[in-house]
Amino acid sequence: GIEPDVPRNLNLSSYPFDAEAIKRDFPILRERVNGRPLVWLDNAATTQKPQSVIDRLKYFYEHENSNVHRAAHELAARATDAYESAREKVRRFVNASSTREIIFVRGATEGINLIAQSWGRRNIQKDDEIVITWLEHHANIVPWQMLCSEKGAKLRVAPVDDSGQVLLDEYEKLLGPKTRLVSITQVSNALGVVTPADKMIEIAHRYGATVLLDGAQSVSHMRVDVQALDCDFFVFSGHKVFGPTGIGVVYGKPEVLEYMPPWQGGGNMIQDVTFEKTLYQEPPQRFEAGTGNIADAVGLGAAIDYLDRVGMHNISRHEHELLVKATSELVRIPGLHIIGTAKEKAGVLSFVLDGFRTEEVGDYLNKNGIAVRSGHHCAQPILRRFGLESTVRASLALYNTHEDIDKLVSAVWNLRLGRT
Ligand code: PLP
Repeated sequence: GIEPDVPRNLNLSSYPFDAEAIKRDFPILRERVNGRPLVWLDNAATTQKPQSVIDRLKYFYEHENSNVHRAAHELAARATDAYESAREKVRRFVNASSTREIIFVRGATEGINLIAQSWGRRNIQKDDEIVITWLEHHANIVPWQMLCSEKGAKLRVAPVDDSGQVLLDEYEKLLGPKTRLVSITQVSNALGVVTPADKMIEIAHRYGATVLLDGAQSVSHMRVDVQALDCDFFVFSGHKVFGPTGIGVVYGKPEVLEYMPPWQGGGNMIQDVTFEKTLYQEPPQRFEAGTGNIADAVGLGAAIDYLDRVGMHNISRHEHELLVKATSELVRIPGLHIIGTAKEKAGVLSFVLDGFRTEEVGDYLNKNGIAVRSGHHCAQPILRRFGLESTVRASLALYNTHEDIDKLVSAVWNLRLGRT
């Protein structure tokens, strides 16, 4: 068979691009929910998959399925080629300099835990300091708390202003000779605030700290270049970037990965095993013990092909337009408050509506076919910074249209005005 490709009938070289046409590439977006066409605005939780990704998974299992790296036969070669070519696509996607810097994991959470367990346990000692921000997802808080309590190290947290933006001066005041690691998000999942990651990384390096950038919420919205950012680690999840669940990525600078011990032992990650002594593989295999999520890595590669075809710049521009429109229309609704009003935002609109619990807003929108998330978004500290336990979060992706935003806005108006 011939490997399925992304649709070639898209004409996306010019702007504005046709979000309706893009939407048609995502079969689930033809679903109806409660009698209404589905409007998917829960993209920060997970994204939907284009037909090309679904086809690629099917093709893998029909024509290529095998374990990788281990056998002499044809299917092993096909599976290995597909898997390693996905690694190359990821390398290009984040502009790493070599595929040896790309480790496949289950997702951003597993990636951060890998770094905490491997790099962290080797490099963090008693009284060392790890700096994060108030914006972090629990996945970028809890692993560091666990490491700090094991090692007697300290977690320090950079505050944000009332718009949700990191206070750079306050951040810098936290850094010093004891700072070993700075671990920050590039885009806040709860508020959509884009942090000044490039400046924060530059400052951290001045203090000799290693930097982990959490890209779980950035990769679907903007072009990422790990070399330009100069981060030491970068993590993201495939499922938030139109790929399958269960696959994610750790990028690490080669000079950092080289000195990291394995975090799980088993097959694949070894060079030679005797009962007395085991020699480990070089990165990335050293960090990929056992059979990986081969098919889903290949599916992630197909998602990256799709994004390449559409163009990240086009996506950023389109989503920015939708975010500006949604924000300006929602703030006209009496009693509606946007949480996270920083100028630099991507993909996420978090709000509360006076007189309505966030669950009520979520339920009402669901009755209208509109999927949002109401809750703490796995980022309780930042919501509490604003005196809240929960917000309604509408989050965007490339396939959202102006009509989707119109439906959201008019549904919130209807709820507010007591229309049914
Ligand atoms: N970091 C951020 C900023 C996130 O938004 C998320 C997911 O919501 C994660 C990390 C964890 O991602 P996953 O649950 O895919 O491991």
